[in-house]
Amino acid sequence: MEDSVPPLSLNFDDTKKAFSHKSDAELRKTYRLFRLMRHSGLVNIGSAIGNAVIGLDIGLVNRIIKSTIFEQFCGGESLLDCQATIDHLYKYHTQTILDYGLEGKSSEEDIEHIKDEVIKAIDLAASNASVPVVSIKISGLADNATLEAVQLNQQTPRQEEQYQKLLNRLHEICERASELKVGVFVDAEESWIQNTIDDLVMTLMLRYNHKSCIVFNTFQMYRHDRLEFLKQSHQNAQENGIFLGAKLVRGAYMEKERDRAEEGGYLSPIHITKKEVDHDFDEALRYCVEHIADISMCCASHNIASNQLLAQLVEEHSIERSNPHINFCQLYGMSDYISFNLAQEGYNVAKYVPYGPIKEVVPYLIRRAKENTSVTGEMGRELTYLTKELARRQLG
Ligand SMILES: Cc1cc2nc3c(=O)[nH]c(=O)nc-3n(C[C@H](O)[C@H](O)[C@H](O)COP(=O)(O)OP(=O)(O)OC[C@H]3O[C@@H](n4cnc5c(N)ncnc54)[C@H](O)[C@@H]3O)c2cc1C
Repeated sequence: MEDSVPPLSLNFDDTKKAFSHKSDAELRKTYRLFRLMRHSGLVNIGSAIGNAVIGLDIGLVNRIIKSTIFEQFCGGESLLDCQATIDHLYKYHTQTILDYGLEGKSSEEDIEHIKDEVIKAIDLAASNASVPVVSIKISGLADNATLEAVQLNQQTPRQEEQYQKLLNRLHEICERASELKVGVFVDAEESWIQNTIDDLVMTLMLRYNHKSCIVFNTFQMYRHDRLEFLKQSHQNAQENGIFLGAKLVRGAYMEKERDRAEEGGYLSPIHITKKEVDHDFDEALRYCVEHIADISMCCASHNIASNQLLAQLVEEHSIERSNPHINFCQLYGMSDYISFNLAQEGYNVAKYVPYGPIKEVVPYLIRRAKENTSVTGEMGRELTYLTKELARRQLG
């Protein structure tokens, strides 16, 4: 840290700012939901019910899900539904990243539908200053077996054809995004399909990132090879005269990755300790800030220390807080104490807002509920801050 720059006095404890977007009734409702989710037994039962009813149109269950966990973590069932959420967030200086939440689809019809929805989201983003980016998952635009076969270079002629179709879909999406100057975040996924994703994203960046940063790859810093990969991607971008789009995350598939590595008898790509992950994440933040002229970055994290570090680095390097290459992002319904406090201080902040028919977003909701059963660490903070704000408003 440079001596001349005083530590930034960012206060994530300011629950008044953090929850000013919530009425008393909404605050109470959110508090009750987070309290319920703390009980892993309840979450497990809820998840089992959720899994069992996916695809069944059970009115009562749908209504319960909709008025509780869906309302907390999703923007709506359709793009049109999301407009109210988008406008509400924007009133509090926070932008929206639209994320069409369909998962695990493999039929041609479903995949085409997802692509069409992404293009509709780009069109909506183009007419809303409050929506700078849409997010996509490559596994939503092709079947997993194809992505895995391409990575192993063992694809059948039919899979080669599927891969070509995937590439065409991605060009269709990015062409529109480039024309309308909307960003596209490509999510990172499991390591056995990630090389395929990385190659595709680099191909897209080489085509669309010449004048500005349209396409972003995601770097999972829980992998021990990703800091180096971030630097290599940057070098590649520099050699080709393009911007590198870098969304930094810790990574969401740790257990799955470790289980598969153990079963397959290979070294897990995941760091052994959380400390190493935190180290690499923070190094990645530093690297991106040091090369901010040609890297457009997003710190996609709920970790207070990492968000604080990025804010501090921005001050140290005398970068404008609103520089379009510096972005913070959290999931809708979570870590409002980070998002809204940063937004009020003038940093670029966005919420990832998933949307889609309730039965299709159940797997996403189950992941959010499970993540929030933890009473320690970052997730445990949610309830602490909600409790604090209830007390401040004398609602406790
Ligand atoms: C806006 C946004 C977009 C996201 N997009 C993606 C995406 O595209 N792909 C993706 O994979 N994830 C994505 N995530 C999820 C992300 O990877 C993390 O799982 C989640 O955000 C928790 O990490 P954290 O930095 O917020 O907080 P923290 O609570 O500080 O970190 C928790 C994370 O640390 C890691 N970790 C925990 N314990 C250990 C351990 N013992 N050893 C090694 N590592 C450990 C895991 O990655 C775990 O998820 C996204 C998250 C956000 C907020």
